[in-house]
Amino acid sequence: MFPLENTRIRKTILTMDPYEAPMEMEGIVAKLDANENPYGPSPRVYEALTCSLKDIWKYPSVREYEKLEESIASKLKLDDPRCVVLGSGSDELIDVVFKLFVNQGSSILTVDPSFSMYRVYTHIAGGRLVEYTMSEDYVFDIDIFLGIIDMLKDNICLIALCNPNNPTGGYIGRSDLARILEYGIPVLVDEAYIEFSGLESAVGMLRDYENIVVLRTFSKAYGLAGLRIGYAVTSRWISNNMRKVRSPYSINLLALKAASVAIEDDEHLRMVVEAITLERERVFRKLSGITSLKPFPSRANFILVDGSCLGLKPDEFKSALMKRGVSVRIWSKLGMRMGCIFRVTIGRPNDNDLFLDAIVDLGGG
Ligand code: PMP
Repeated sequence: MFPLENTRIRKTILTMDPYEAPMEMEGIVAKLDANENPYGPSPRVYEALTCSLKDIWKYPSVREYEKLEESIASKLKLDDPRCVVLGSGSDELIDVVFKLFVNQGSSILTVDPSFSMYRVYTHIAGGRLVEYTMSEDYVFDIDIFLGIIDMLKDNICLIALCNPNNPTGGYIGRSDLARILEYGIPVLVDEAYIEFSGLESAVGMLRDYENIVVLRTFSKAYGLAGLRIGYAVTSRWISNNMRKVRSPYSINLLALKAASVAIEDDEHLRMVVEAITLERERVFRKLSGITSLKPFPSRANFILVDGSCLGLKPDEFKSALMKRGVSVRIWSKLGMRMGCIFRVTIGRPNDNDLFLDAIVDLGGG
């Protein structure tokens, strides 16, 4: 057999940690581990998908892509629909942005903790990851961040920010974003959770800053995670180059169809966002009342909690919750904190209650 040592896999891939998607486990009633939206998409989407099934033998047409770009541009009040680039989930677009800007050995500046795919794509692209570690309470300090840019700016090829931030739930204000954009370095602003935040999207900043790439997704507030579709909004020179890097048919026909229907149903979106944000505040209040827990304020559809004082190891905590039908995302170290730190997605009220009851059961009284 061909000896494994002789494989020509790049060293950077062999040594990198993979992204660990949560495992689907039997007996889980409240799946609160992947920031999905249990309300799902607009009911109109199911109807449109049924009608489109007969067309799945064809590649999605260029016109289909363009039509959705036009609908998105019109929702966002953009003059030029070609500034919108669709992707197979915003994950694909992060990959595309990294392929576009990252040279071997150049630095990507991001935040710790933040979405782990920035780390993965940095390694794949052969870049050097530079992380600004937030304070113990996961507060973003703009002056420290700008200090790092000042120190390293000649070698930074890309800044990757998540706003609101996954997994902490905090956010960077518009004026701080503007200060970062002023350097002229390409800045990725990942707005996967913006609909839940009550914040204004950075899309409007495109008027003043050609170096911004805003990423949005249909996976969260629009409830289409299983179909894999997202989009970037950026300047024309970046969007044209992103299209060169993206695979030609990466967004499938059903996803295009579903997104083009979902984006028109403002009422469904409003209902979902309201239900989830109300529940987020309720769950936060309950968690704040439990002395052994420290929840962090969130603008997204999840809450990060330091549960170290419950006295359970992360693995014990995970299996104890699972026995009670609840799955959350758990870390043993996150930024400056060590212990049992977990992120709970806000689900339907019943799921959230199951989670809260389980926590109380585990000693969080
Ligand atoms: N960005 C962030 C911050 C996320 O949390 C996620 C999904 N968990 C993504 C991007 C990717 O989302 P998708 O590919 O489903 O659009």
